[in-house]
Amino acid sequence: MKSIIFIAPPAAGKGTQSALMVEKYGIPAISTGDILRDKAKEDSAEGKEIKELLAAGKFVNDETIVNILKERLSKSDCQNGYILDGFPRNVSQAKIYDQMLEESNKDLGIVILLDLDEEIAKKRIIGRQTCPTCGAIYNSLIEESMPKKENTCDNCGSTLTRRADDNEETFSVRYATYVEKTAPLIDYYDQKGVLYRVESGISKEHTFNSIENILKEVNK
Ligand code: AMP
Repeated sequence: MKSIIFIAPPAAGKGTQSALMVEKYGIPAISTGDILRDKAKEDSAEGKEIKELLAAGKFVNDETIVNILKERLSKSDCQNGYILDGFPRNVSQAKIYDQMLEESNKDLGIVILLDLDEEIAKKRIIGRQTCPTCGAIYNSLIEESMPKKENTCDNCGSTLTRRADDNEETFSVRYATYVEKTAPLIDYYDQKGVLYRVESGISKEHTFNSIENILKEVNK
C-alpha cells in the first residue's frame, strides 16, 4: 500500500482519520504530535522545552522532529507503508524527507490535504475532549460529537481531558503557523503530482469515504 501524508490545519481530523485507516488497512500511523506530547511528559531538559513549545503552539525544531521520525520509521511495522500524521510541517522538513526516501529508495506515496474552514476549525479545537484511556475523541461544542454524559467517555466511563494547546489563544498561533509554514506544502506536493484534496468540514464519515475513494484509485 502507498504511504500517506496528511496535510491539514489544526482540527481537520488527521488524528481521527489516521485511526480509522489504521483499523481498516492495518498500516501504522505516525503522529509526531503524539510522540512530542509523550516526550513533553519526561522530566528532562528536552521534555521541558518541548512542553513549552507545544503549549505556545510553536513548532519543534526540524532536527528534533527528523530524529524522532527516523527512529520511528526504522521499526519493522513501517515496511509496507504508513501514515504520516503531522509531518512534514514545512517545506524544509519536506525536502529532508525527500532525501531520506531517495537514500532508502522508497516511494513518497500520496499526500492528502484535509481542507477545513477556519471558523469550523476553531470550534472543533476549543471544544475538543479526548479519553485518556481508550483515545475516543469528543467535542463539547458540536451537538453530534458531544459525550452522552458531560466530561465522561461513552465507551469506558473515564473522565475526558483537554489538550494543553486546545485553547483560543494557542489556536490562533497554530492556525497562523499552518497558513505561513505548512500551507506552502500544498503547492510543493501539487507540483510533484501527488496531492489529493478532501473536504473535511462535513463529517468524519464523509471525509473517510472520500479518502477511501482516492485510495481505491491510486492503489489499483
Ligand atoms: P498535532 O498533534 O499534529 O496537532 O501537533 C501538535 C503540536 O506538535 C504542533 O502544534 C507543533 O507544536 C508540534 N509538532 C507536531 N509535528 C511537528 C512537526 N512535524 N514539526 C514541528 N512541530 C511539530
